[in-house]
Formats: sequence, C-alpha cells, structure tokens
Amino acid sequence: MHKLSNRDPLDRRLFLKTGAATAAGLALTSCADENPDRNVRDKDNGYHVVIVGAGFAGATAARELAAKGWRVIVLEARPRVGGRVFTSQFLGRQIELGGSSVHWVQPHVFAEMQRYGFGFAEVPLYDLDASYIMLGDGTVKNIAPSTFDEKYTSAFNKFCADSRSLFPKPYDPFFNETLHKLESISAEEHLLSLDLDELQIASLRAELTLYAGAPISEFSYTSFVKLFALASWDTFTFTDSEKHWHIDSGGTSALVQAILDDSRATVRLGAVVQEVTDHGDSVSIKLSDGELVTASTAIFTLPTKVYPDINFKSGLSKEKQAFIDNAEMSDGANIYMRTTNNLGNTFCFCDDPNPFNAVQTEEFSDETGTILKATLGRQSLIDLNSFDAVAAELRKIHPNAELTDVAPYNWVTDPYSKQAWPSYRVGWFSKYKDMAKPEGQLFFAGAATADGWHEYIDGAVESGIRAAREAHLRMEKSYAG
Ligand SMILES: Cc1cc2nc3c(=O)[nH]c(=O)nc-3n(C[C@H](O)[C@H](O)[C@H](O)COP(=O)(O)OP(=O)(O)OC[C@H]3O[C@@H](n4cnc5c(N)ncnc54)[C@H](O)[C@@H]3O)c2cc1C
Repeated sequence: MHKLSNRDPLDRRLFLKTGAATAAGLALTSCADENPDRNVRDKDNGYHVVIVGAGFAGATAARELAAKGWRVIVLEARPRVGGRVFTSQFLGRQIELGGSSVHWVQPHVFAEMQRYGFGFAEVPLYDLDASYIMLGDGTVKNIAPSTFDEKYTSAFNKFCADSRSLFPKPYDPFFNETLHKLESISAEEHLLSLDLDELQIASLRAELTLYAGAPISEFSYTSFVKLFALASWDTFTFTDSEKHWHIDSGGTSALVQAILDDSRATVRLGAVVQEVTDHGDSVSIKLSDGELVTASTAIFTLPTKVYPDINFKSGLSKEKQAFIDNAEMSDGANIYMRTTNNLGNTFCFCDDPNPFNAVQTEEFSDETGTILKATLGRQSLIDLNSFDAVAAELRKIHPNAELTDVAPYNWVTDPYSKQAWPSYRVGWFSKYKDMAKPEGQLFFAGAATADGWHEYIDGAVESGIRAAREAHLRMEKSYAG
C-alpha cells in the first residue's frame, strides 16, 4: 500500500508533479500503467475506462475501477489534481482555497481519511472572544457569543424544524414523496414565514447565502434541509461539520493524491477534453491538442457549469441539458486574510448583499496577529483582487484591523470550474437524478449528482463510487457477452 508516513505538510510530490506537468499535457503516471498484482482484463492493451476530471469524484472512481482490474486513464485539464479542493500555503501555513471542512458524519470522506491515515486539524469555532452580525445595510452588531449562539441555534432549529419528517432517510431524499410538492419553495420564502427577530434573520440569511451562492430567493429550501438531515437533524452537529475540522498533513490535495496513487491509474494533467463521441461499444475523447483517447466507457466528473464547453457529438438527453442550463448557481469563493494585530477568536455572519457572508478566525496570537478566512456566497459583489476593497470590507467588522496579506481564489472565473460548490436553484433539486443517469457508454459523477452531501467533498466521493459501480456492471456485462 501507498506509504504516507513521510508525507510532508504540503505534499511536495504533488507540487513537483504539478510543475512538471505545465509543459502542456505531458503524460504523468501516478505509479505505473501496469497493475502487476491485479487481474487486468484487457483484450487489447487499451483503456477500459477514461475518467474526465481528477477531483475527489474522479480519483475515487479511478481507484474503485482499477481495484476491479480495469485499466483506467484520468484526464485532468488543470496542471494539478484536486479540482475544487486546492491545498496551498499562506505565510507558511497550510490553507484550503477550495473545499476545506470535513467531518465524521460525512461517511465517504471520513472513510477515505481513515483508509489513507489522515486526521482532523481543528479550526477555532468555540470559546469566541467576540461575535458579530452584519445587517444587510452594512451595520455591524456586536453580540455576546452566548447570545449569538442562543439566537442562531433557535433560528436554525426553526428553519429546519420539519427536517426529520421531510427526510426520514436522508440518503434517499425523495423517499417522502410529499417533498416534490415543496420544490417551488425558496429558502427566502421559508425564512420569512418564521417568527424570527432581525438578528436571527440576518444571521440565517448569511448562512443560507453561503450555501446558495446566490440570493436565497433563488435557492431551494428543501435541498438545504436535506443537508441538515444528514447531520442527524441536529444544529450543533451540522455547524460542527461545516466549520470546525479540516484535513491534517497535506490537506485535501494530499488526500486526493493518495487516492490516485492507490488507483495506479494513468493520470494525465493538462489534458483538456473538448469533444466526446460515443460509438456504442467504445468512446473516443478528443483533447484540445487534437489527440484522441479511446476507451470502452467514460466517466465525467465535471462541475455542471463546465459541461457546455465540451462537444458531446451525440448530444446529451434533454433532461440532462436542462439541468446543465438551469440547476446550479454558486457564485462563491474563499479568501484568507492576515492582520498584524491580534483580533482574538471572533466570528461574524454578514447578511446578503454584503460580499463576505462568514468571517472566521483561523489563528490568533500576539506573535502572528490574526489569520481570518472569509467565505463568500456572492463573490461578484466585490473585486477580490483589490486589496483596498477587501480591507474596507474587513474594517466594517474590525475597524482597527491592520491588514497586510490576502490570498483569494476565484472559482467562478476559473475556466475548469466556473462555479464554487454545487447548489440547486428552486425547482431543480429532484432533477439531480437526471444529471447522474448514464447515457450509452457515458457515466456521470460529481458532487452535484450525490444523494447525500451534494454541496460537499463527501458528495463527490459518494458519486465517484456510484458511477464506478455503474460502469463496472456495464463492462462486466459487455465483456461477458
Ligand atoms: C470555495 C469552496 C469552498 C468549499 N467548501 C467546502 C467545505 O468546506 N467542505 C466540503 O466538503 N466541500 C466544500 N466545497 C465543495 C467541494 O470542494 C466540492 O463539492 C468537491 O470538491 C467537488 O468535487 P468533484 O470531483 O465533484 O468536482 P471537481 O473537484 O470540480 O472536479 C472536476 C475536475 O474536472 C476537471 N475539468 C474541468 N473541465 C475539464 C475538461 N474540459 N477536461 C478535463 N478535465 C476537466 C477540473 O479541473 C476538476 O479537476 C467547497 C468548494 C469551494 C469551491
């Protein structure tokens, strides 16, 4: 098995590979093409499966299929693996520019952490020195942490009060068929139907805007409540799962790399897929440099908003096309900031339309000052590359903040994501099944297609396992025939 004990904090192997790979589409093999210890069942030395995308969904699907003896190639457009997770460095510290928080109530990602020997790195969340709520007009209220907690918890409990009856089996989200009747309810509509005060509405709208990546009048109420149900219908567990724990020693990127290393699939970085032809008994994929890659089947793990950039020669079903065109929003981003002064352990929710929706201390000391992370549901409300704009926003919460360093990542302008985390527009939650459905020799994964934690890393892993199982069964059948 892959050895992890000497993994250095930022996975030097990953960055070395990344550097080498920028020389345009160089073939990079994680270990070797051959799986000598496995029963590789090829007839003609070709690939059985081509997987498009080396994020969590693609890496998991590759590992699952290679373990069954199929020969797998992973095509990844970027010069690095991980997709919408990206562990980097900020002032000598490990940071997560994309997906970051994980939890033991997220069974798929927790199992991967256990399998490859990763632990949890704690982020401060409790024992706050101060907590704030910024209202929609930018006014900031300093609320005692115990009052903040009490108000937020009671508001959250009200918002999710029906979660157990709506989602008695959260991994079978439409088990309760009455749910279909609630598809047209937005998070805003439900929020405003509750008996809540101004601060409760502001803090909850901030949280929901994060999940929506859009104004919450466009956000599916039931899709959010499903996520809550997955955390055992419990507010403390949900909050703990979303804001308290990261992956240690190399972070999310190192975990994706460990899965890929274990798969021993061929991984090609800088391989931009442009055109796909399903021949009925095989699939050919044309890359941006004109090269053709052929396999029996293909699994696509792309962010939904990237699909229009690929020419599926035989088209996609009209249901899938409708999902691609309409279902997702997600204008989100993360930014890390450092102030030279120690602001203490603080947390702030900022109501829409303020650009930062949550600002959380990640580290604080007199020596370091403060490292803060802001998560934005609507990054287009601010120019994250403008230091002055970021400083002005932070000073609304911390007027004496002496900001010196910032590290933003804009997932919306990145051509290989064009969005942040998955989020469903009102009316589109139940349609994720259309996106997941196989078509001919083509299979579909990606966090947006998950039954469970669809806005999360966990959903990506779940979807990779499901699509790999579907592709395996199809190939078993066709090779037996
Ligand atoms: C800012 C941010 C914060 C988040 N916070 C959290 C969090 O705290 N916790 C959590 O669990 N989740 C979080 N998420 C969500 C989580 O990161 C994603 O759900 C998950 O990583 C998606 O994985 P995936 O494999 O489905 O897709 P991706 O990771 O997007 O993988 C798809 C891959 O396809 C590649 N690709 C795209 N186009 C092409 C092409 N033409 N040819 C070849 N390859 C292509 C991409 O480069 C990418 O590597 C966050 C996401 C973001 C962006």
